[in-house]
Amino acid sequence: MERETMSQAEWQVMRVLWANPGATSAQVIASLSQAYNWQGVTIKTLLGRLKNKFLVTAEKSGKKFQYFPLVSEDEQLRQSLESLQASVCNTKQVDLVRLLIETGQFSQTDLEQISQLALEKRDQAPERLICNCIPGQCTCGQHGGYYHG
Ligand SMILES: [Zn+2]
Ligand SMILES: [Zn+2]
Repeated sequence: MERETMSQAEWQVMRVLWANPGATSAQVIASLSQAYNWQGVTIKTLLGRLKNKFLVTAEKSGKKFQYFPLVSEDEQLRQSLESLQASVCNTKQVDLVRLLIETGQFSQTDLEQISQLALEKRDQAPERLICNCIPGQCTCGQHGGYYHG
């Protein structure tokens, strides 16, 4: 199922709920209002939007509502990555990985695992990737350039 996308602000609210499922709006406000300089009403609006997108559910508990995530952090990350992958030529997906490795922060163990994973993938990888872009959207050089002229 195609999930709703999340704004950066909504994502920050989700992170609180992933770490503390069942948090009340007061608890989410306590976590975020200082760091982001957001008013309580802003955070309540964000919670409302997430609820409308069926990304969180609110359960009444006494006078308060508790908020629970309906999507896991893992699923949401995977979906963001898939949409990023879908927006770039498959011959250029390596650029995403390279950028992530260049700009990200990793421990030595992380990097050993990444190297290991890359070596394992290499055994099944084709020698050359075939572009599957729509001609006119791509600069991979495999299309003979007929759509340029
Ligand atoms: Zn392509
Ligand atoms: Zn191409």
